[in-house]
Amino acid sequence: MPTMPLHDQVEALLATADEGTLPIVAAGDPVLRRPAEPVDGQLSDTLLARLVEVMRRTMRAAPGVGLAAPQIGVALRLAVLEDTATVTEEVRAARDRAPLPFRVLVNPSYEDAGGRRVAFYEGCLSVPGYQAVVARHERVRLRALDEHGRAVDEEVGGWPARIVQHETDHLNGTLYLDRAELRSLSSTQTQEAVERWSQPTPRLAAAELGFPLPESG
Ligand code: ZN
Repeated sequence: MPTMPLHDQVEALLATADEGTLPIVAAGDPVLRRPAEPVDGQLSDTLLARLVEVMRRTMRAAPGVGLAAPQIGVALRLAVLEDTATVTEEVRAARDRAPLPFRVLVNPSYEDAGGRRVAFYEGCLSVPGYQAVVARHERVRLRALDEHGRAVDEEVGGWPARIVQHETDHLNGTLYLDRAELRSLSSTQTQEAVERWSQPTPRLAAAELGFPLPESG
């Protein structure tokens, strides 16, 4: 199996998709801890398009705002993003959470583009049942290719910048918990737990749980 070409591995995996979705790999699987391979012609255009479609459906079904290929067990530098931002106006304003239309990132990388860091609760489909506060760059310069092989080089800010960083980190074998304030770790397994830290910012959580926030956050 490890010697099977990636093309055949992906063909075999997609054949197991149930209603177009695949199970999400959970933390503890080494595929989430290895740097993924750059997309470089391993998959035919048709197979790449089928893989993207299954990732889109899996992300929506979860539901989530991003999904990286290693999260379905494919060690390729590929991610899908989409955020309909169905949050209150107050939360949207505090977190700069503008809707992010569906997009595909191939071989993405990012660097700090603003110098400011902002901290908010975030979660991960591969770490179900928890959320934690992560300080991230408020703005990043994103470089990638899109699904048609066109170059992407743009500045991204606000919540979409957080999603770009989270998903690109997955492709480097990094989970959000590696960057999180561990004292902020909170269950999301009951409605009561979800509501406890649902304020627009994590200031109260920082005071009550005892973790630092960046000065700007
Ligand atoms: Zn994640």
